[in-house]
Amino acid sequence: MIVPALARSTGAAPSTKPRTAPTATPAPGPAPVSVGALTPTQALQLLRDGNARFVSGHPVTDQIDGKRRLEIAKTQKPFVAYVSCSDSRVPPELLFGRGLGEMFIIRNAGNTVDTIAMGSIEFAVAELGVPLVVVMGHERCGAVKAAVSVVENNTMFPGSIGKMIEPIIPAVLRAKSQRGNLLDNSVRENVRRVTHQLRTAAEPMLLAPQQQGKLQVVGAYYDLDTGKVDFFDEPPTKKG
Ligand SMILES: [Zn+2]
Repeated sequence: MIVPALARSTGAAPSTKPRTAPTATPAPGPAPVSVGALTPTQALQLLRDGNARFVSGHPVTDQIDGKRRLEIAKTQKPFVAYVSCSDSRVPPELLFGRGLGEMFIIRNAGNTVDTIAMGSIEFAVAELGVPLVVVMGHERCGAVKAAVSVVENNTMFPGSIGKMIEPIIPAVLRAKSQRGNLLDNSVRENVRRVTHQLRTAAEPMLLAPQQQGKLQVVGAYYDLDTGKVDFFDEPPTKKG
């Protein structure tokens, strides 16, 4: 089963060192996240702050060294489940300057959520207790571009590529009636399609914590040119 397999995925020896090791230089990166008490809003703010550092050219994280590795060797406590495209230009940890053990990431070309991706998200929420799920599309996405090509030119793709982009086609069809750039609008519609799926058509293990305010599903768009992540699709707030 997926749960025990993931739970024992790290096998490093336990650390006998004190938790606070001496530091010779001021830490340039963010402190590791201790997730226990994070609200969805606080988790989202961590991403906003990290992306601001990335955009400013100071994205360094020091949470990838041996000390951090040993700290989390026994268990993981990520603060977000992140659905992103496989595109080599959009690695989530780098865009937010986060280190080991902080982001539970699901990636595939076109950032869609099939059964396997859904199970991964459910695991992150139900077993690891993440308070936030982000679905991120990006500028000039090749998978979405392929879906646009299917709709516009009836293009056929070989192998499993055609099946892979099938779920994106409804997003393109919806975007066709919108003003502006079709590819860009399709990327955003594809994100909205997935966030809607996670907010309404998911299992109770995802819906209940959203209704209780313990979990938020947020849609985002990454601009390849500026490096900025725009969290454009937030759930409606329950309070004023
Ligand atoms: Zn892409």
